[in-house]
Amino acid sequence: MKITRAEIYPLSIPLMEPIKMAREMVVDAKTVLLCLTDDKGRQGWGEASVAPLMTGESLDSLVGSIKYLVENSLSIDWHEPAGFADIFNRILYANASAKSCLEMALLDLYTQEANVPLWRYLRGESGIVADSPPAPIPLLRMLGGSLEKELSDAKLFRTLGFGHWKIKIGSLSLDEDLHRVKVLCDALEGDVISVDANCALTLTDALRFCQSESASKLTFAEQLISPELAMADFVRLKQSSPIPIGLDESVHGFAELEQLVEVDALNGASLKLIKTGGVIEALECAKLLEKHKLALNLACKIAETSLSAAATASLGFAMGKVAWGFSMSNQYLKFDICDTPLTAKQGCLEVGQLASSGIGVTPNINRVKEAIAKGYAVIQY
Ligand SMILES: [Mg+2]
Repeated sequence: MKITRAEIYPLSIPLMEPIKMAREMVVDAKTVLLCLTDDKGRQGWGEASVAPLMTGESLDSLVGSIKYLVENSLSIDWHEPAGFADIFNRILYANASAKSCLEMALLDLYTQEANVPLWRYLRGESGIVADSPPAPIPLLRMLGGSLEKELSDAKLFRTLGFGHWKIKIGSLSLDEDLHRVKVLCDALEGDVISVDANCALTLTDALRFCQSESASKLTFAEQLISPELAMADFVRLKQSSPIPIGLDESVHGFAELEQLVEVDALNGASLKLIKTGGVIEALECAKLLEKHKLALNLACKIAETSLSAAATASLGFAMGKVAWGFSMSNQYLKFDICDTPLTAKQGCLEVGQLASSGIGVTPNINRVKEAIAKGYAVIQY
C-alpha cells in the first residue's frame, strides 16, 4: 500500500459550552485531521487532538510532527499494521499523538482494502475470543457548571438513557467538591459515577477525598494526584482508598501501565489514542488490563470528532467490554465533521454504527474545510 497524496487539516471546532477542568478551561477542540489517498484511490482518515497538559502538544507542534511523519511516509510501501509503530519510531522519536494520527489513517486504508470494519480486524488480529456481536459501549457523560446545572443535566441525560458519569473536581475547595459529589451521587444512585481531578490534588487531599463518606458511592476516582509524584504515593493512595482508583495522565503506553500494574497502583485505567501512539498499542494496554482483571475506560481528549471517536470505540468493540465507559467527546462539539456523527442511543454506542469497512465514519470535506483553525491552512502533499 503506497500513499500517493496527503492532506493535513488543522481544525478548531467550538464546544457547545466551555468545559472547566482543574488546570484548564477548554472552549474549542483543537484537533488535526489527516487524509491519505492510496494507490488504489481510497481515502483513509486519521485524527489527533492537542493536549498541552497530557501529551505536551499544541496545534503548532502537532501539525509540525504530523507533517514530518507524512513527508517521510510517502516513499514507504505499507504492509502489516503490527509493524507500523516500528516504522514510525525509525522516523521520529516520541510524539505519540502525531503517530496515532498517521496510524489511524493507515489503518483506515488497510481495513478498507481488507473489506472489514476496524473493530472486527482488531478483534481478529489480537486473539480476542469473539462472543459476537459486541455489546453496546456505555457512554460516559461529563457534568460541569453550577451544581444546579449539573443536577439538571444529570436528570435530562439520565432520561435519555445515560448511566455513566464523570464529575470534574479539583478547581474548587475539597469540601465544596465533596459536597457536589455527595449530592450528585445521591441523585444518580445506582449509576456508574466517577470523578476526575486531572492531577490537581495533593496526596493528603486525595486520601481525605477517597476516605470521605461523601465519596463512598463513587465507582472510581481518576487521576487524583500528579504523575510527578513518587510511585510509592500512588501505591499508598490505591491501598488506602475504599473507592477504586483509575489512572489517566500517568498512563502513556504499555510500559508505564505494566509498571503501575506490577506495583498494584490502580484498579483501572483510561486509554486515549493520543497517549498510546495509536489503537494497536492501546489494544495491548486494554488486554493487559483485562489479564489483571482491571477496569477499562476509553476516552477522547476534550474534544475530538467522530473520527477519533470511531477509532477509539473500535478498540472497545474489539475488547467486548468497557466497564468504566467511554468518554466520547464529539457530543460536546457545536458541530461535527461527518454528515452523520456518532451519537448516543440510550446512552450507548452500538456496533451497528461502525458497520462499514475501515474506521466506519467518513468526514465531509466541506465541513472539514469550514473548521480550519484561524491562522492555519490545509497542507497538501
Ligand atoms: Mg482523565
